Amino acid sequence: MKKRRCVWIALLLVAALALGLAWSFHLFDGPAMLTGADVADWDGKGIELRFFDVGQADSILVRCGDEAMLVDGGNRDDGPQLLADLEALGVRRFACVVCTHPHEDHAGGLSYLIDRIPMQRALAPCREADNYWFSDFAAKAGESCGLTVPAPGDEFPLGEAAVQVLGPLRWHEDMNDNSIILRIVYGDVAFLLTGDATWVAEGELVDSGADLKADLLKAGHHGANSSSSYHFLELAAPDYAVISVGADNEHGHPGAYTLDRMSDAGIRVLRTDQLGTIVCRSDGKRLYIGAPEKNDEAEK
Ligand SMILES: [Zn+2]
Repeated sequence: MKKRRCVWIALLLVAALALGLAWSFHLFDGPAMLTGADVADWDGKGIELRFFDVGQADSILVRCGDEAMLVDGGNRDDGPQLLADLEALGVRRFACVVCTHPHEDHAGGLSYLIDRIPMQRALAPCREADNYWFSDFAAKAGESCGLTVPAPGDEFPLGEAAVQVLGPLRWHEDMNDNSIILRIVYGDVAFLLTGDATWVAEGELVDSGADLKADLLKAGHHGANSSSSYHFLELAAPDYAVISVGADNEHGHPGAYTLDRMSDAGIRVLRTDQLGTIVCRSDGKRLYIGAPEKNDEAEK
């Protein structure tokens, strides 16, 4: 009887050890939540997208190898905190900075950062716009590294990742639809960043036949009802959508209809107003997603 009990205990120990090993090597399907420490340490392997919590605004750091790209910089007031975060992460220069479109919640922080972190390349959908912060950023970019207005179909490397410019496909009255739309491909995974594009620009992309497939989508226009249309979601077919949005914002973002459409499509929604900064890493095969501030909370 005692012997049998010993065998059972041994079997249980072996099973527990196997489970532990499986967990540490991420053998489970689906993403593993990174711990706070994991998220802080970047060893330069794979790709990382960091969706900063900048309230009702957008700012996304993409790192691959030893190269970094910043897509939008939040509002002007977000500049100092972003600078502190970027310095803490060891980002000393940008291979590329993208201002998706000339609105303050995307361009504001960039006009602060451009004086403080060197950039090799700056992209925007236009050179001039009726927005003070964008004009400031565009003028300084023009003087330092030059401001490029990319064309759909352009592609450039970021480390071992390929950054594709999908849009805008034409000029629109609604500045949101002039957002630069990027698809970032690394190994077998892809990320789609759509700025504040609405269903109008999304529809043009759908009609263009461009490959929209993505594992993770940065939902357009802070999750507004006028973005993330059914057909667009169907073609992109992401597993995850990140919504960069401020808590209790005056616009009512994210829209209930958008959340319904994402739910219908089986997309898991990750919101910065609920999770704080969201980090997504990939080895080119799977996604690993963490929320360092949430983990810090959990550890307290
Ligand atoms: Zn915006």
